[in-house]
Amino acid sequence: MPNLQATKVKELKGNVRGKVLLPSDDGYESARKIWNATIDKHPALIVRCTTKSDVVHAVNFARDNGLLLAVRGGGHNIAGNAMCDDGIVIDLSQMKAARVDPSARRVTIDGGATLADLDAATQAHGLATPVGINSTTGVAGLTLGGGFGWLSRKHGMTVDNLESAEVVTAAGEVVRASATEHPDLFWALRGGGGNFGAVTRFEFRLHPVGPDVLSGLIVYPISEAKSVLQQYREFAAKAPDELTVWALLRKAPPLPFLPERVHGKEIIALALIYAGDPKQGEPLIEPLRKFGTPLGEHVGVQPYVAWQQAFDPLLTPGARNYWKSHNFSALKDGLFDAVTEYVDKLPSPQCEIFFGALGGATTRPAPDSAAYAHRNAQFVMNVHGRWEDSADDERCIGWARDFFNASAPFASGGVYVNFLTADEGDRVRTAYGPNYDRLARVKRTYDPTNLFRVNQNIQPA
Ligand SMILES: Cc1cc2nc3c(=O)[nH]c(=O)nc-3n(C[C@H](O)[C@H](O)[C@H](O)COP(=O)(O)OP(=O)(O)OC[C@H]3O[C@@H](n4cnc5c(N)ncnc54)[C@H](O)[C@@H]3O)c2cc1C
Repeated sequence: MPNLQATKVKELKGNVRGKVLLPSDDGYESARKIWNATIDKHPALIVRCTTKSDVVHAVNFARDNGLLLAVRGGGHNIAGNAMCDDGIVIDLSQMKAARVDPSARRVTIDGGATLADLDAATQAHGLATPVGINSTTGVAGLTLGGGFGWLSRKHGMTVDNLESAEVVTAAGEVVRASATEHPDLFWALRGGGGNFGAVTRFEFRLHPVGPDVLSGLIVYPISEAKSVLQQYREFAAKAPDELTVWALLRKAPPLPFLPERVHGKEIIALALIYAGDPKQGEPLIEPLRKFGTPLGEHVGVQPYVAWQQAFDPLLTPGARNYWKSHNFSALKDGLFDAVTEYVDKLPSPQCEIFFGALGGATTRPAPDSAAYAHRNAQFVMNVHGRWEDSADDERCIGWARDFFNASAPFASGGVYVNFLTADEGDRVRTAYGPNYDRLARVKRTYDPTNLFRVNQNIQPA
């Protein structure tokens, strides 16, 4: 163990209520595994915190012993920033408690909760806040990078709904950040990633949603992809904020509503939700069925929490993943040509390209109103390389990179910080955009020695 005496570890174990896992301990191997199986890091110790005080002790321990420090929320980060080699991991995944105040429309939730934990707590009251589309993702990492999902066109980015956060700073102090307390820190937390401390609790504003929503999939053959994308572009430009449609191109999974002959064949799917009265949504989604000749559809009124988990089976942990991403302020025909060319060359049954629709409420705040800067993004594209066998690494990563390059001429230049892979250090400034310098000044105040640096890092000014 680097620079670490057994007596010090014993002292840490005495101070924290959660488990401290060393490489020789049962549970260490599973605790070091995260969503993306290409990440294979071996921390010297993992502190499975159960209380805020555990987090304070672990931060102080890392700082006082000069240890590299990583913070784990949901462990979904594609770049693997929840783990580190040889250092200490502050693992918040056991801290998931949520408390809802339905009359105030507020939820407070602990820093290790997943989206499923958040949705379950809030939907018990018919309320929700916008988060991502895969329920095993961590609330913490998603929020700190900006956060978007099915409700964002109506209710904004996740950070636009953040009311306050409780943070353990590099000095080991617990501070509350809000519009009136540590407002500079509060500004930075809303898009500046895990750079400013370990967040032990988030407080969000909530909105009435569902509990049943009109949502589902309409699937077209790949031969109609260009025409579907062109009509999708026109449709999305006029859609009300309640209506969100994403476009997804991949090989068809064996979904029961699709004819068997297309299972494993390339398709384009439109994934939709109407975040309002389903009856009002019905006529609005009708044109989506007429973009061509659908292969099948699975659209209906279902619980919002079910739709929030609809993509979980395609996004299970443990596969090898490599992503490349661009933001777009408009979708051009040349991009659609590139998309269809590369969907023809999908290197695995799990690789996909998706266009997530932003726009609506996500674009209305000023770019400097919070650290999340990309208020011009109408669409986020993710080239999702995903496969099982390490023998396919080069081929699948190569495909993702090649398509990323082919689509670059049509992109806005911006990128979502939460979609950056480990080898994209050169895009970190772009991800924080014009807010980087201000973020660097806040970093100097709260983390002058860059203790929190296993992230898309902002150097202290
Ligand atoms: C399958 C999948 C689907 C996704 N879908 C969406 C989506 O729809 N919308 C969207 O916006 N994003 C989406 N993402 C991206 C997601 O927002 C990022 O992967 C995010 O980093 C995940 O957060 P986490 O807590 O799970 O990750 P972790 O890997 O645990 O952490 C990510 C980063 O945040 C830091 N961090 C984690 N917890 C804390 C904490 N409590 N305090 C301080 N820092 C912390 C970590 O140190 C690390 O730098 C998706 C990711 C995956 C893998």
